[in-house]
Amino acid sequence: MSTFYQSNYVNTNDNLDLSENLKVNDFLCPHCNRIKLSTDLIKRLTKLKNEYKYPFYVVYGYQCREYFLEKGENPDNSHSKGMAVDIHFGGKADLLDILDYAVKEFIHVGLVREITGEYYLHLGSASNSLYWLAAKKENASDTEYIYYSDYRKMRYFIESRPEFFKNIKI
Ligand SMILES: [Zn+2]
Ligand SMILES: [Zn+2]
Repeated sequence: MSTFYQSNYVNTNDNLDLSENLKVNDFLCPHCNRIKLSTDLIKRLTKLKNEYKYPFYVVYGYQCREYFLEKGENPDNSHSKGMAVDIHFGGKADLLDILDYAVKEFIHVGLVREITGEYYLHLGSASNSLYWLAAKKENASDTEYIYYSDYRKMRYFIESRPEFFKNIKI
């Protein structure tokens, strides 16, 4: 049974603490200033912020169903359920190093390439493990995915294509 940190509307001037090192403002839905975030996910992100050698920055936190509907995208996903966030490390983190760390704490881990060519990490709480590589396209529904149920297989794929993955920093 999941529990959530949840608020219908957040006054961003209050800049509330989500945990000892996370701020509510960083995870709000960009279109309605609401938040819903799994407390399990908050706990793991707090640990990541405390323990990993580089601080992370939030790309996408909670995004409500209406937000996705307005964009014409599937509204039923882990962000609208408060079960996932997307982060990056300002281009400091080595890809395999951060993936190896992330999979110890999170069982949903995705590496996503934006249309701009920049990368971020999707981290989620869930009941079953899933790892993936994704490349966003101009049209969101054209996003290409490669899914793995076993992280070691994704890691092998990355390692076996150094010419493509070598210079990727998150
Ligand atoms: Zn919203
Ligand atoms: Zn995501």
